[in-house]
Amino acid sequence: MKRVSILIPCYNEEESLPLLYPELLKIIEQNKNYEWEILFVNDGSKDSTIEIIKDLSNRDDRICYIDLSRNFGKENAMLAGFDYVSGDCVIILDADLQDPPSLIPDMLSYWEEGYEDVYAKRKNRGKESWLRKQFSLAFYRILKHSSSIEMLPNTGDFRLLDRCCIDALKQLRETDRYTKGLFCWIGFKKKEIEFNRGDRVAGKSKWNFFKLLRLAIEGITSFTTTPLRFSTILGAIIAFGAFILMMYYLIKTFIYGDPIQGFPTLITSILFLGGIQLLSIGILGEYLARVFNESKKRPIYLIREKRTKEFKNPQNSTIK
Ligand code: UDP
Ligand code: MG
Repeated sequence: MKRVSILIPCYNEEESLPLLYPELLKIIEQNKNYEWEILFVNDGSKDSTIEIIKDLSNRDDRICYIDLSRNFGKENAMLAGFDYVSGDCVIILDADLQDPPSLIPDMLSYWEEGYEDVYAKRKNRGKESWLRKQFSLAFYRILKHSSSIEMLPNTGDFRLLDRCCIDALKQLRETDRYTKGLFCWIGFKKKEIEFNRGDRVAGKSKWNFFKLLRLAIEGITSFTTTPLRFSTILGAIIAFGAFILMMYYLIKTFIYGDPIQGFPTLITSILFLGGIQLLSIGILGEYLARVFNESKKRPIYLIREKRTKEFKNPQNSTIK
């Protein structure tokens, strides 16, 4: 019997978990031809999430968990999950029921058809502010135009991954993780299904504007070096413009003997150039910071306690 794992990263989800579990049970009951595993990754929650998970795990031995030593962020929590899921495929699900478990049977049937990455694309984006929406659309546009691999807009982490994708993702152990990009980077046979994303059932979103901005910068810096080229090109254009301007003033002074009213030109060009230089140094710094973080080779997450299952066919596994 094939084993299907459900991976759920949780951070302060004590209100959502009691609502999520019955929904999952429904799906499991309907699909008895699979062996199921539910792996919760507690990402350093400050509320009673881990107690709830342990309680569920004591009652239902399909439920496994990993308790991380602190909050490492969803991206790292997902890697912890990939490392320990035992299924022939994994379905990544948010704890807040924004990713409807009712889509799981469809995902499974596509998986049976041979697709290796069945991802759910949002038809709408749920309740969110206008500004956040515009920012994320702009972000996807920048990524699309600047990176060589195709990024999928309006697609979250909600997807089914075959064992071959899990093993591929386990090999990508970069410190600054942008998993949505990694899903595209690994390739494999993809299939899209659409769904309507609802609102959170309980609790509130863990993302604020700054966290999202950080994730966006992560996404751009880990998948494209175009911003670096951007400052080179901008520098070249400005230098060329400045040269033309210099010639213009030189000729004007020689022919007309016209003393230049310097201050406005001077101050604007100094400020403009200063701004561009700072921006370029900033961009450079972003990349340097990534090299710095990577060079420390710290583990991506630390585990306090875990209860997990063994993967059945280690010979299929290409890593470790
Ligand atoms: N999450 C996590 N660690 C974090 C932040 C979030 O494991 O540091 C989990 C969270 O518990 C949820 C999922 O990631 O299961 C998505 O988080 P959230 O609903 O806050 O994000 P949104 O749906 O607003 O994008
Ligand atoms: Mg959510």
